[in-house]
Amino acid sequence: MDFRYTTEQELFRDTLRKFCAENIEPISREIDEKEDGIPDEIIKGLAAQGVFGLTIPEQYGGTAPEGEELTYANIAIHEIARAEMSMAVPVYTLLCIGWGLLIAKYGTEQLKQEVLPKVAAGDYFVGISTTEPGGGSDIANIQTSGEFKDGKIVINGEKVYISGVLEAYEQRDGGHITLVRTDPEAGHKGFTFVFIPAGLPGVTYTTFDDMGRMALSTGGFTYQDVEVPEYCILGEPNRGFYINMEGFNLARILVASACVGMAEKALEISREYVSQRTMFGKPLAKYEGISFEIAEDHGKLEQIKLYLQYAAWAADMTYKEPDFMTPRQLSRIVSICKMDAPILAADIARHTMMHHGAFGFTRDCPIERGLRGVMSYVVGAEGGHNIQKLIIAREYIGDVAVPYR
Ligand SMILES: Cc1cc2nc3c(=O)[nH]c(=O)nc-3n(C[C@H](O)[C@H](O)[C@H](O)COP(=O)(O)OP(=O)(O)OC[C@H]3O[C@@H](n4cnc5c(N)ncnc54)[C@H](O)[C@@H]3O)c2cc1C
Repeated sequence: MDFRYTTEQELFRDTLRKFCAENIEPISREIDEKEDGIPDEIIKGLAAQGVFGLTIPEQYGGTAPEGEELTYANIAIHEIARAEMSMAVPVYTLLCIGWGLLIAKYGTEQLKQEVLPKVAAGDYFVGISTTEPGGGSDIANIQTSGEFKDGKIVINGEKVYISGVLEAYEQRDGGHITLVRTDPEAGHKGFTFVFIPAGLPGVTYTTFDDMGRMALSTGGFTYQDVEVPEYCILGEPNRGFYINMEGFNLARILVASACVGMAEKALEISREYVSQRTMFGKPLAKYEGISFEIAEDHGKLEQIKLYLQYAAWAADMTYKEPDFMTPRQLSRIVSICKMDAPILAADIARHTMMHHGAFGFTRDCPIERGLRGVMSYVVGAEGGHNIQKLIIAREYIGDVAVPYR
């Protein structure tokens, strides 16, 4: 057993950390305050580092390190979140990487050829659109319908709180993978997973005014008789629920990576501040009320970092050897990360804000945008907190606690 990253993985991390420190961190406040999204040069720069191609095979323009996709993706998202604490850039990137992998695994040849090279080049956004006004937690209850007709799937319904709406429809190009009900009698065994490229007639969208990660839009879609070509279907029709759950496993690992990266940077900022800020004649670090809190946070963060590395490895193993672990078994490991990482990151951001006193409450201090950004994952993006507990209880205790559908 070797807990270290390989030389290649370390080199990738160090190179990316340098890129992010030089190109993203200096403008991170500006990114959070801009109204027109993430600057192009940031996306193109990350693409040049190979980040957007990490889960895309070489034949489609990617740089996927075969069998280590999630391990590298975990490193990448962690590093980006250290530099851009509002989380807009890491989330934009993790959505493309996580859901891009599903297209690489389940997409038709035509879809892969059309979409993946553009994703790898940083020219195309891929998002996920499952949540509906009736609620995001009960995915099996979604109402958006899809009807197969003349080589198309005709979609009607509404989705809300979807990341990357403006990015796909206005600022760049892209599309969202959507879950639709194609066999109304079959419950969750009647869902199909389909990619809806931006610009199809019948799609209208709106945006919400969020409190954080301001450079990444959140919005909603109305689909009215939207005709999507059948080659945009991922996997087999009516198997969409299971493919969607597999995608959540990947995306949730990377969500935890973003939270952990942001928290790691916040704690470092605090460590530096309390070592220098003098109060009652001594540095704040001399007071155990401060140093013990930092020690505890550091301990918790180190533990989750290691567990996350394990989750990424388990996902890689499962991708490589499908018998290694079932998606359900993997979901327990992943949900532990998604349950704990956002809460810990929010706690750390709050603690570091307190260590900074009034300065922590200003926009000159990067912590406030970290706290606003990470709250998106505390409240529910990529699955509510309690939903992670339901998954863990289902897998750990069994059907008696939470029956499997
Ligand atoms: C910034 C942001 C970006 C998002 N981006 C996307 C996106 O790109 N694509 C997408 O599809 N969705 C996205 N979402 C939506 C997200 O997936 C949902 O918020 C999430 O699934 C929860 O759904 P909900 O908000 O409708 O809350 P609800 O489902 O109404 O749940 C409300 C609360 O009740 C809890 N709860 C629900 N059921 C139970 C239960 N059985 N027992 C105990 N507690 C329960 C939940 O944990 C939650 O705290 C985003 C959300 C945010 C905040």
